[in-house]
Amino acid sequence: MSCAYDPSGLTLPNAHFIGGEYVGGPAALNVVSPSTGAIIGEIPCADVEVVDRAVQAARTALAASNWGGMQPRDRTRALCAWADLMEAEAETLAALEAICSSRPYAHVRTGDIVVTAEQIRFFAELADKECGALAPVSDSHFGYIADEPYGVIGAITPWNFPISMAGWKLGPALAAGNAVVLKPSEMTPYSTLYMAELAIRAGIPAGIFNVVLGDGPTTGAAITGHAGIDKVSFTGSTRAGGAIMENIARTGIKPMTLELGGKSPMVVFADADLDLAADCLDRGIMSNAGQACVSGSRMIVAHEVADALAAKLTQRFARYRPANTFASEPGFSPIISETQLGRIDSIVQAAASQGAEMLCGAARFDHEGSYYQPTLITGVDDTNPAVRDEIFGPVATFQTFGSEDEAMALARHATYGLCAGLFTRDLSRAMRLTRKLEAGTVWVNRYGRSRDHILPTTGWKSSGLGHDLGREAYHANRRKKSVLIDL
Ligand code: NAD
Repeated sequence: MSCAYDPSGLTLPNAHFIGGEYVGGPAALNVVSPSTGAIIGEIPCADVEVVDRAVQAARTALAASNWGGMQPRDRTRALCAWADLMEAEAETLAALEAICSSRPYAHVRTGDIVVTAEQIRFFAELADKECGALAPVSDSHFGYIADEPYGVIGAITPWNFPISMAGWKLGPALAAGNAVVLKPSEMTPYSTLYMAELAIRAGIPAGIFNVVLGDGPTTGAAITGHAGIDKVSFTGSTRAGGAIMENIARTGIKPMTLELGGKSPMVVFADADLDLAADCLDRGIMSNAGQACVSGSRMIVAHEVADALAAKLTQRFARYRPANTFASEPGFSPIISETQLGRIDSIVQAAASQGAEMLCGAARFDHEGSYYQPTLITGVDDTNPAVRDEIFGPVATFQTFGSEDEAMALARHATYGLCAGLFTRDLSRAMRLTRKLEAGTVWVNRYGRSRDHILPTTGWKSSGLGHDLGREAYHANRRKKSVLIDL
């Protein structure tokens, strides 16, 4: 297998990025390549003092640069220059991501980075367009609703799409005039650090975007509990989202956006285009080896077409081959860590011990690194752990239905409501059922986001609180002020 780049030739930063410069600390956490299992670096873990230093750097930068109060078009210009630089530096940025993550180099370079740059430009362009409103008050008064930046946003991101998830937080927060202290996942720190370096080169004032490295319980908790953080914006598991809510309740109430886990259904009716549905279901669960919040991990299929669709899926799943994330040809992604692979396997084995039937997979690949086989599970109901728990791996359940009501009952999940997919040629049914599905996003005859960044993402139920993407994300980074003037 040929390599897209030489991983040993990469310089891996091992320090926080605060006030426009690298700030070292004692090595505390190993960074591991999931493609090989090798330890490739060590990073420090920011404690309360380091996080405080980053927050002070952000406050000083806001005051010195007037980032939140300048002509909005000047923020637009700096952010667009940053997006351009990310594309110009895509090779290095992609290599720094692929070295420690589950993302294949080629996909990051031509996909994640291009889309993230596009999203940053989308938010940059909103800076001089979105505004407050006049209030219809009596003619003896003048009333309006102003909106203003929060100040310092504390952002925390997961490991599954490090550049994309950082972009979702940074684009709207910076365009809306805030400074950011961001903690990437301790497993995938490098591409986010390089994004911060590029921000300085693009003319974003030093201290407006700071990166602190570390784990959740130490660094994450220091961010969410810091009195100088004006809002928390988090993407990660529902478990960590709950811990963040608790910490915020204990240390001082502040607003938060939480984008959390999912267990999304993909519902296929007998009248669907079966080949299209098979392609979408396959990609819907196997993209990034199922390590996506939106993964369609529950397939719900009409009795009449169940056997045919299961056969099409197992055929497609058999084609996947593990590949190193820095190989020139992208292949099936590794699982981010041995711990996560062990968790996936333990849920699959628990499902089997409760009577589930494995249509394929259910074991790791015999290959260097952490790779798990595409797995399709049937004979389950909602008490089975494979249906109940977010597995976050290449594992889907396959359930069948007779009637529309039965399909909707199976689609409803007790805990999660992130996304849902619907496959039918019947337009009336599609329109009727999009209303019934309990999810923040519904896709019909497709599964996955498009590049229409105007569409916000939000989780219902325990899948989240607030929005990323869309105008909603821009406004989520500004707070309202009602003003009434007595004339
Ligand atoms: P995770 O919750 O373990 O970690 C996410 C981030 O939170 C990491 O940076 C981690 O260090 C930090 N963290 C962990 N505990 C914390 C705490 N108590 N306080 C503050 N920070 C803490 O999640 P993960 O394993 O990195 O990512 C996978 C999860 O993310 C899945 O559940 C997935 O569904 C979810 N996710 C959701 C979306 C979305 O848009 N809804 C997008 C991507 C991933």
